[in-house]
Amino acid sequence: MTETQPLIFRKGLDMKEAVAGELAADYHSALVDEVRAGNYRHDKGRVTVHLAREFGFCYGVDRAVDYAYQAVARFPGRNVCLTGEIIHNPHVNDRLRAGGIRFLSDPGEKGRALGPDDVVIIPAFGITVEEMADFSARGCTLVDTTCGSVLNVWKNVVRYAQDGFTAVIHGKVKHEETRATASQALKHPRGRYIVVLDRAEAAVVCGYIRSGGDRAAFLARFAGAVSPGFDPDTDLVRVGCANQTTMLMSESLEIGEMVGAAVRDRYGDAELPRHFRAFDTICSATQERQDAVEALLDSEPVDLMIVVGGYNSSNTVNLARICAARIRTYHISDPSCLLSADQIRHRPVGAPSTVKADEVMTEHWLPDEGRVVVGLTAGASTPNNIVGQVIETLDRYAST
Ligand code: SF4
Repeated sequence: MTETQPLIFRKGLDMKEAVAGELAADYHSALVDEVRAGNYRHDKGRVTVHLAREFGFCYGVDRAVDYAYQAVARFPGRNVCLTGEIIHNPHVNDRLRAGGIRFLSDPGEKGRALGPDDVVIIPAFGITVEEMADFSARGCTLVDTTCGSVLNVWKNVVRYAQDGFTAVIHGKVKHEETRATASQALKHPRGRYIVVLDRAEAAVVCGYIRSGGDRAAFLARFAGAVSPGFDPDTDLVRVGCANQTTMLMSESLEIGEMVGAAVRDRYGDAELPRHFRAFDTICSATQERQDAVEALLDSEPVDLMIVVGGYNSSNTVNLARICAARIRTYHISDPSCLLSADQIRHRPVGAPSTVKADEVMTEHWLPDEGRVVVGLTAGASTPNNIVGQVIETLDRYAST
């Protein structure tokens, strides 16, 4: 191997056992284990907590965090960097910083020249094709933690591009995963993409598929969300649906159906396969967490829901949306948001999903007296120790 050839680790670094204790110390919660063993129910004083049966770290996040710890152990004395947040949870990211990992997205790190001595960890949601090529060209050692579910989306998007289908991606245009997925479409000269955020944007695309429209207005509306040179008159003739893996499953499915119906209206049933493709790209972990919270709300008489996770975590934001549609819901980033039995700091459901989303304070969030049943879940990037600390904090308020 020459000095500039990249070394890419995709299957672990042979240090799993060495870091297992450290991972457990940083993220494990005996209390969460106890609640699980107790049929996901926890009683203390006047408060009963029902924990969703699927919550917290997903398999992709588990693996990414594990690999990051392994990278530090495997390459002592070398610069170990992350391209940005490994997952959207501030506690996990801060813990990695404390462990010596540098974040290329941090102030002061931007534009730092990397070379063969640097180890670069690629996060679970992946990076763009260009970024990957750049790190490879510099000869960096790459620890690729891109989740298999994300790779599955990429495989299908590349196939769309090869077959001349434009990828209609249900996602957030600035989210790392959606940026990475969109870049995959451009690996092929015929590749095109358009990113739609929600049903409203999908409806605009469907309108254009059905009957065309004002091309300039369309391009203005989707500025920054389409591939370079995108022409809706020619690039919406053959479309394939994909999505960011952490979107609201019901919305992704509905958008797929909307686009399919628009294509059918335009070209007819017989022509549908020549103009439309779709495949299921919501990852199973996201789906299980969304299903589990619905099941909890169906089966338990909860008075309110607490959803724990980063404010920029797409899957956490979507869990909060599901809950808020049915019950009073508080999306909190961590237990420090539970200021007292009377005051809670939280991100309003529906607010922009950014790291520094404006929090609001709500008073009287716990009833002053009588029994209270609290439903609890956590996004796929929230470690168990944070969930456990939330339960401990509720325990303290249970006797007030
Ligand atoms: S949310 Fe799904 S796609 Fe994302 S890391 Fe977890 S398992 Fe993978």
